Amino acid sequence: MNIQDIRADFPILSREVNGQPLTYLDNGASAQKPQVVIDAITTAYSHEYANVHRGLHTLSTIATEKYEAVRGTIARFLGAPDENEIILNSGTTEAINMVAYGWAMPNLGAGDEILLTVMEHHANIVPWHFLRERQGVRINWVDCEADGSLEAQKIIDAITPKTKLIAITHLSNVLGTVVDVKTVCTEARKRGIPVLVDGSQGAVHMPVNVADIGCDFYAITGHKLYGPSGSGAIYVRRERMAEMRPFMGGGDMIREVSKDSVSYADPPMKFEAGTPGIVQTIGFGAALDYMMGIGMEAIAAHEADLARYAAASLSGRNFLTLQGTAKGKAAIFSFTMAGAAHAHDISTILDKKGVAVRAGHHCAGPLMEHFGVSATCRASFAMYNTRDEVDRLVQALELAHDLLG
Ligand code: PLP
Repeated sequence: MNIQDIRADFPILSREVNGQPLTYLDNGASAQKPQVVIDAITTAYSHEYANVHRGLHTLSTIATEKYEAVRGTIARFLGAPDENEIILNSGTTEAINMVAYGWAMPNLGAGDEILLTVMEHHANIVPWHFLRERQGVRINWVDCEADGSLEAQKIIDAITPKTKLIAITHLSNVLGTVVDVKTVCTEARKRGIPVLVDGSQGAVHMPVNVADIGCDFYAITGHKLYGPSGSGAIYVRRERMAEMRPFMGGGDMIREVSKDSVSYADPPMKFEAGTPGIVQTIGFGAALDYMMGIGMEAIAAHEADLARYAAASLSGRNFLTLQGTAKGKAAIFSFTMAGAAHAHDISTILDKKGVAVRAGHHCAGPLMEHFGVSATCRASFAMYNTRDEVDRLVQALELAHDLLG
């Protein structure tokens, strides 16, 4: 993979910020878009736009074909055996709420337990709090180690006879820790416990095959996968789909509606109420085609090199404390600075140097609590980042240390 060719595919990467070349290291929050995605959106709105599914006219047929083709693209990207196991949606937050309302609420009751790790994003915490508050479901937590690592066995050991769902991240958005979800799924399956994997970060940085992992649910979000915001999908194993109630009601998800009865469309349509993000989804398909064209193995190898280089550079700065140094972690680095420097101030100084990082709690309250910090800075890398950009990050951090330390 030629990194300069890839960078040339992303128009925004050639702009300057505050008179400096842009060093975009906020990919964990949202990735930039390649020209093919921008073109797919422009073409859809300029030449091929109409509502999907309901129209018989030409434009609606074209839009429907383009939109529906993305289901197959996502199935290929995720290694899903059947594209009808893919539910299209607006992203991971909607996906996990759909599982909480549609599968967990009817199937779990008081005293049942959901197992989470301390590394979860709020999107994979708050929907389970709804069940705790409303149905008396218990949430059990698995801690990570001081270095941010988390062995699958620790999750398996936390299973109790009351565990009815395991909901875990594939890759921590704060620490970059990769969880061996396949081993967790293998053991959970033996015990008949469904596993939801939050793949919002995992699917961005490594090849994913849901059939091989053996999970029941795998959620992805388009805007982190170089696609538009408001797009996403969840893989749901066929048997689980059969157990799931529709989360939202409306157009498109029905077979027939009368004054006193309703029947539903076959899955996955049953779970896709209303006019979807038509163009967002088409753009998402273009993004996944782009990633698959480069190859997930090649992307993972390039990012592994960046991760090693950044780990060596950042850990060599004694004014930084890195949160998360687990073996095999992805190129996502959270850190705090010695002294009273607040993450927000560091981020503001970095921005003056054109370096975009995120500062705050990263929607991971329990993990911040675990590390005893209220906020960190996070530099998260993508396929288009380079070693030079790691150097620019470090130079900007040295400046921030001089000014704040
Ligand atoms: N899960 C993880 C691990 C994330 O990093 C994020 C986004 O930051 C989400 C879930 C939520 O994704 P979205 O806001 O796109 O629904």
